[in-house]
Amino acid sequence: MTEHEVVIAGGGPTGLMLAGELALAGVDVAVVERRATQDLPGSRAGGLHARTIEVLDQRGIADRFLAEGQVAQVAGFASVRLDISDFPTRHPYGLGLWQNHIERILAGWVGELGVPIQYDVEVIGFTQDETGVDVALSDGRSLRAGFLVGCDGGRSLIRKAAAIEFPGWEATTSSLIAQVEMADEPELGIRRDASGTHALGKVEYEIRDGEVAYQKGGVVGVMLTEKSVGATGEPTLGDLRERLIAVYGTDYGIHSPTWISRFTDATRQAAAYRKGRVLLAGDAAHIHSPVGGQGLNTGVQDAVNLGWKLAQVVHGSAPERLLDSYHAERHPVAARVLRTTMAQVALMRVDDRTEALRESVSELLSMDEPRKRFAAMMSGLDIHYDLGEGHPLLGRRMPDLDLVTADGTLRVFNLLHGGRPVLLNLAEPGPLGTTPWADRVRAIDANYPGAWELPALGTVPAPAAVLIRPDGYVAWVGDRAQLGLADALTTWFGPPTKA
Ligand SMILES: Cc1cc2nc3c(=O)[nH]c(=O)nc-3n(C[C@H](O)[C@H](O)[C@H](O)COP(=O)(O)OP(=O)(O)OC[C@H]3O[C@@H](n4cnc5c(N)ncnc54)[C@H](O)[C@@H]3O)c2cc1C
Repeated sequence: MTEHEVVIAGGGPTGLMLAGELALAGVDVAVVERRATQDLPGSRAGGLHARTIEVLDQRGIADRFLAEGQVAQVAGFASVRLDISDFPTRHPYGLGLWQNHIERILAGWVGELGVPIQYDVEVIGFTQDETGVDVALSDGRSLRAGFLVGCDGGRSLIRKAAAIEFPGWEATTSSLIAQVEMADEPELGIRRDASGTHALGKVEYEIRDGEVAYQKGGVVGVMLTEKSVGATGEPTLGDLRERLIAVYGTDYGIHSPTWISRFTDATRQAAAYRKGRVLLAGDAAHIHSPVGGQGLNTGVQDAVNLGWKLAQVVHGSAPERLLDSYHAERHPVAARVLRTTMAQVALMRVDDRTEALRESVSELLSMDEPRKRFAAMMSGLDIHYDLGEGHPLLGRRMPDLDLVTADGTLRVFNLLHGGRPVLLNLAEPGPLGTTPWADRVRAIDANYPGAWELPALGTVPAPAAVLIRPDGYVAWVGDRAQLGLADALTTWFGPPTKA
């Protein structure tokens, strides 16, 4: 039986990101993916929000995505666009890039890090004991792993086999989604009628002056709200044609579909993200309507929260209870995503009263303070892990400042490329007492003369020192007194090494 420290079920965006994080930390990890190749039929997610671009930047790979996508103001709430160009981040925008490209680029990175991805094979079950998990595969083999992570999507077999509850709300809307060709030039853009919102757009597009520009011909992306919820079975070209005629009065000569699927606004979240040696991340842990474009982003950020913690537990440098902070931190983040997507689905209903409500919300969001708050939320820049009372930076993302150091100017995010924690001493140069953690935590004397500004919160007092976790969140803020530093180091990076 082949052994790995960690086996990941599912090589979608979440599984790939987690594989990269674990490999960076020196963990022996393998991915098992049901698909025969990384190719993804259809488009699914349309891009990345600012915080996801930041976490990729923390690993030095954001440029790979930026080079292939379209930078644009993509954050929005119930179709009200929220501009973040004035936000204090190096990436005050989102990125239009289809999920198949996101996965291809992530898989390239994971490949460079030497992670084996076993395609064309499924996890069909597992049993766990005190020391590990036996993972059964569809080709008759089994793998032995210290931990198994279910990144296997909304219908997660791992979640079901672990008997983890998935409570939530049934679907209230259902939509057909497809990529097709059309003999006639369709009416592009969004259309609303009594049955809901529908959209036709070209899969290939450019953004010019903030507006989407399409070329003639080419593959058309179709999204049609269905008449009712609860259809079973795979949707067909006939279903698409029928719905197109009902909504647009014509089928535009639809032909040659390359992908036809269905999504709903079913909203559910795993009651526990961990059961013993089995963990869940991404859609396996939370599903919701695609409105607002949060799913892939939340999954990638789950992976970045989990990776360094799991690596330390695997290496034995931190106790297993560190893994409980994964649920404690990420469950509330996705719970909020579920609430805001449900709110958006409600606001996008098409009756006159909802229309009036949407106009009121839109007016509110045009005011600066609400815009900033909602934009920070939708772009993931306001995530705040509850690490207790203290400086506003505590539990929030560390800004990517240009630090002045003895070796010249250094970006904070460059310090995180290796996925290791960093203690920044921003006061008088000198040791801050990290010596017993020197094998794990990099300590740097630096100076930052500028203002400290956080999205939506504005300017915050300059700290004298910050302890930054590998996921880019601030674990401790201090002064020269170093109160609480040893505790924070022990909590997040394990007990001190004895001299
Ligand atoms: C129409 C639509 C639009 C969307 N738009 C956006 C958007 O703009 N922004 C955004 O952030 N999100 C968006 N999403 C959501 C996004 O697509 C998902 O949240 C994202 O794909 C989740 O990634 P994941 O890796 O967790 O799961 P998945 O992408 O579902 O990946 C799971 C992987 O596991 C594999 N697998 C499943 N079972 C097994 C098994 N037993 N063994 C081995 N492998 C297995 C699957 O083949 C798959 O590759 C959209 C979704 C839809 C449907």
